[in-house]
Amino acid sequence: MDFVLAGGTLIDGTGRDPVENAAVHIKNGRIEWVGKLSDLPSAAKQAQEKDVSGKWLLPGIIDAHIHVCWNGEESIFELLERDRDMIVLEATAIVKRILEVGTTTVRDIGGHDYVEMALRRAINAGFIPGPRMKTSGKVIAMTGGHAHFIAREADGPEEVRKAAREQIKAGADTVKLMATGGSATPGQDIHASQLTLEEMAAAVQAAHSMGRTVAAHAHGKGGIKNGLLAGLDSIEHGTYLDEETADLMLERGAALVMTLAVANPDLSGELSPTQKADVERRKPNFAKAQENGRNLIALAREKGIFIGCGTDAGGNPLAVHRFSMAREIQLMVEYGMPPLEALKIATCNNARVLRWENEIGSVETGKYADIQRPIGRY
Ligand SMILES: [Zn+2]
Repeated sequence: MDFVLAGGTLIDGTGRDPVENAAVHIKNGRIEWVGKLSDLPSAAKQAQEKDVSGKWLLPGIIDAHIHVCWNGEESIFELLERDRDMIVLEATAIVKRILEVGTTTVRDIGGHDYVEMALRRAINAGFIPGPRMKTSGKVIAMTGGHAHFIAREADGPEEVRKAAREQIKAGADTVKLMATGGSATPGQDIHASQLTLEEMAAAVQAAHSMGRTVAAHAHGKGGIKNGLLAGLDSIEHGTYLDEETADLMLERGAALVMTLAVANPDLSGELSPTQKADVERRKPNFAKAQENGRNLIALAREKGIFIGCGTDAGGNPLAVHRFSMAREIQLMVEYGMPPLEALKIATCNNARVLRWENEIGSVETGKYADIQRPIGRY
């Protein structure tokens, strides 16, 4: 395969301005050369030319926080009553849909009974279509902690260390910890801290020594602080980041993986009874979502924190796997992020969160030719 995508407008994912009348030379699935069509090297002129004028090209979108085993339309309690085969079969349809809407890579940050690991093997083997995947296996929560119904519950540093090693043994690239309560678990306070600093530090030590990363779900600032002091690599959600925790995050070099649509879901279209009930239950949180989102983006940008983003699709009954990264990017822009920066976060930055920055995330020489047309990929 040796061809040139010629004449499109390229957004390369690095945050640079769009290049009009661009050319991307692709050879054996990798980007050989990229630039202005008028500067195309003579070596590329033998390659087959595909005219993409009038179209936009951008790197495959990366979702750094997703749950592919759940459909995001029913509650996880309802889904857990299904037999495992139905969960697997629906998840097979979910990963196909994720790819079809332009997300070519995901990080599953809370799976179900290692179904996501099997899906990844099936995708990599070519049995089913789906995105490239990084996975965390089961989330690790304190006994009764956030998402305990799908978690590996663990208490005390030794047990949390063992829980982390179990996920790595099963194939986890990242270990997911629950540092605070969460709204998808009824009756929890999202400000309340859960796993302790010592417990999280044990997981960090276990994961880093095996070359894996650690991510923590954290809304309240106590949990954010504990996670950062424990040395983890990313804070997921980070809803109530403040001056002190933002400074600490910068100092520790951790990433903030925002999930804006969780608190501001798309409520257009018909809602099921389960979804309506969830809207009622979570309404007080929705009301402040825009203000929180704006504050979070302003603070993170002002401090120069490294930002990633994800949809949390599948994480609750209002987080459907349907153009969900488009909504995430749209909300970033609505909350004050310049558009090219929002696209950089959803591509280049997320590649770094996934530790895949040498292969994907931007349209640059040497990387995979993971380039979007309106739908699908080359
Ligand atoms: Zn989540």
